[in-house]
Amino acid sequence: MRRLEGLQKNENPLNKEALRDGAKSAPPQGERIQQMTPTNFRTVSTNGYEYMKSITPEEIDIILPQTQCGLCSYGGCMPYAEAITFEKAAINLCPPGGVKTLKKLGELLQQDPTPFITDMEQKAKPNMVAVIREPECIGCTKCIQACPVDAILGSAKQMHTIIADECTGCELCIAPCPVDCIDIVIVPESTDEKKNLARTRFNTRQKRLLKEKQEKNISNPSSMIKRQSYIQDAIARVKAKKEK
Ligand code: SF4
Ligand code: SF4
Ligand code: SF4
Repeated sequence: MRRLEGLQKNENPLNKEALRDGAKSAPPQGERIQQMTPTNFRTVSTNGYEYMKSITPEEIDIILPQTQCGLCSYGGCMPYAEAITFEKAAINLCPPGGVKTLKKLGELLQQDPTPFITDMEQKAKPNMVAVIREPECIGCTKCIQACPVDAILGSAKQMHTIIADECTGCELCIAPCPVDCIDIVIVPESTDEKKNLARTRFNTRQKRLLKEKQEKNISNPSSMIKRQSYIQDAIARVKAKKEK
């Protein structure tokens, strides 16, 4: 990767490779925490009565930058929002959101962000997009597979290009590129419209990946048979235990 002017100063000290591995290993949205109890509440007053209302992952996700980079180690913004909601994940894990997002999370969740501010100032990331040096591209498609918002166009053995309006600057396409022909450039802060688009594209991709995984299981009878036989064995074990 060749970083364009200005970015070196903002080099993020985080270990990107390790964090990317974490992101890759995170399960797709929809397989995550589904049946858990929220851990964050706010006090609401109605007709003179006060009661506690849970804070939903959607309320948290709307604050997050939608870069979908996985640097928080949860594999995407909504998975991080779910982890804050159900697992009490810390509020200081989003470098693309920087201090602004940290403070908004603190306000929503009624947590003091002050202890995290200095560290966040250092690790905050600027808004970025990726650009392919097209003449050098060998059309291997590895970047397409890595892109969490499907912002790359191209097919096998053909030059690839990035749609700047859809790229979140997550940098996930950089490491897989075997010829290192993707640059990162700093751009002005994303609009709400671009963030909403990134959220929609991320969710659509997650659903597609989940569907492909399910179809793969169906088209792979040996894996289905193994799973069914495992379930039957488990039922038999429970039954035997009950009969004792
Ligand atoms: S933008 Fe922030 S919340 Fe979203 S995936 Fe990246 S680190 Fe996680
Ligand atoms: S093109 Fe690269 S930097 Fe842009 S969103 Fe896709 S993976 Fe991230
Ligand atoms: S990973 Fe690099 S070489 Fe391969 S298609 Fe993408 S930009 Fe081209």
